[in-house]
Amino acid sequence: ARTALARSQKLEAVGKLTGGVAHDFNNILHIISANVQLMMKSSNNSEKRLRSILDAVERGSKLSSQLLAFARRQPLHPNLVNVGLLLERMDSLLQRAAGESVEIALAHGADLWNTLVDPNQLENVLLNLVINARDALKGKGKVNIALENLAIDNATAAADPELTAGDYVRIAVSDTGEGMPPEVMERAFEPFFTTKPEGKGTGLGLSMAHGFVRQSGGHIRIASVPGQGTTVSIYLPRAETQPDAALPQAPAAH
Ligand code: ADP
Repeated sequence: ARTALARSQKLEAVGKLTGGVAHDFNNILHIISANVQLMMKSSNNSEKRLRSILDAVERGSKLSSQLLAFARRQPLHPNLVNVGLLLERMDSLLQRAAGESVEIALAHGADLWNTLVDPNQLENVLLNLVINARDALKGKGKVNIALENLAIDNATAAADPELTAGDYVRIAVSDTGEGMPPEVMERAFEPFFTTKPEGKGTGLGLSMAHGFVRQSGGHIRIASVPGQGTTVSIYLPRAETQPDAALPQAPAAH
């Protein structure tokens, strides 16, 4: 519980940092657009306004390089991970994040395949998905997390441009919340895209989830019906459980 708390505090700090950066960016863009609009209305003071735009652009590019440096500081450290065990360990952290009136149900079979992913980043992703579900439920209701082994065959993959054939562990996080209208669904993976009130959403949760899943060789997709709910599914490739068997036999040491 102590490490879960430390981790949630760390994640909160990361959220605050990225949220703060997103907020600064908005201010900068606002200055630029206000100045451009004023310049379009009159030709007076144009030099002063141009300087102000230039300053804002410079601040923006400095911020973006800081953000990139921050993002690059998190390389993947893949490990053999059983997603069922990882989620069981996260239980109290997720429950705390979801709030008392949200019930989290976890369902999975006993013999889940292993995956080769960065467990810390997978935890961040799952925490973000649960927080999104909680927000969609307006703090009250049920979140279902279902895990299953899933073999995607060539025919299924051929019919679906987003999937490739292979063995996956599928993680489906479902809520019966407000759902997403098509225009939100289209932009949901965009960095900094949020429909949440200022200070509440960073718009980075799903974009980070997307980046993580793609880097791990998997897939992510959203199914949502406005007014009924949302399911976010993550497909993580099955790990070779006996990698040694695929390697040539090492010569006997003498
Ligand atoms: P944030 O949660 O900070 O807004 P995300 O990238 O995680 O950023 O999500 C982007 C947007 O996608 C949200 O603002 C919300 O409009 C929508 N969204 C994400 N998850 C859900 C969900 N489970 N139900 C309804 N809408 C969602």
